[in-house]
Amino acid sequence: MGKGIMKEEKGEIVTIDGPSGVGKSSLSRQVATALGYTYLDTGAMYRAVGLFLRNLQVDLDDEQEVAAALAGFNLQLFPATEKDGDVGVVVNGQEVGRAIRTSEMGMLASRVSAIPTVRSQLTTMQQAIGLQGKIVAEGRDTGTVVFPSARWKFYLEADPSERARRRGAQLRAAGQGVDSQEVLEMIIKRDRDDQSRAIAPLQKADDAIVIDTSFLDIDEVCRKMLAVVQGK
Ligand code: C5P
Repeated sequence: MGKGIMKEEKGEIVTIDGPSGVGKSSLSRQVATALGYTYLDTGAMYRAVGLFLRNLQVDLDDEQEVAAALAGFNLQLFPATEKDGDVGVVVNGQEVGRAIRTSEMGMLASRVSAIPTVRSQLTTMQQAIGLQGKIVAEGRDTGTVVFPSARWKFYLEADPSERARRRGAQLRAAGQGVDSQEVLEMIIKRDRDDQSRAIAPLQKADDAIVIDTSFLDIDEVCRKMLAVVQGK
């Protein structure tokens, strides 16, 4: 990909990667708000592709069929409307809203995210968004593949049972029925799949700062991250 990402020379990109349930989304929103940066939710993009391909009943094992379908995929992202709101995701003119936020859509996103044509298309879009600078990018490969020369990189981790507890609470708050054991199993499977896929697996960038969020609340982690970015 070479010099396709020259804007990174501006040094205004923060990347936040890690497995599910470590607090990436809340933290990314908070850090972005505090810095006045744009929050780039790359997971929402994979979720949107998953929903799009499922609605078209595309055979996910057939990469040509996936590529043909993606030619008709148009994605627009809108900044979160309030501090805790989700990024607005519009696919081919239709707002997808909460439909992409279920655990089933998380699993489907993980499945489609391993398809090379999906990854290359979304990575290109993410890098184009990064050209404007002042971005807090959140995902699995933002510090390793999408923005390898981002100025500030964080990798968050937390104990799996704590991550399952948080994810369960999030789903309950969104009105979804939740079986705690099932949430834990899904999280473990999704992370394993994300870590073991051939392209852009979930892994810590060599130059990322690692923060274990198991015993820290969001505000504490946010303060730590801002202290790094603002050089305090
Ligand atoms: O972060 P979120 O739970 O919304 O991500 C959904 C899925 O999308 C992840 O489990 C992962 O498989 C995929 N993803 C990815 N690369 C990213 C962001 C998300 O592969 N940068």
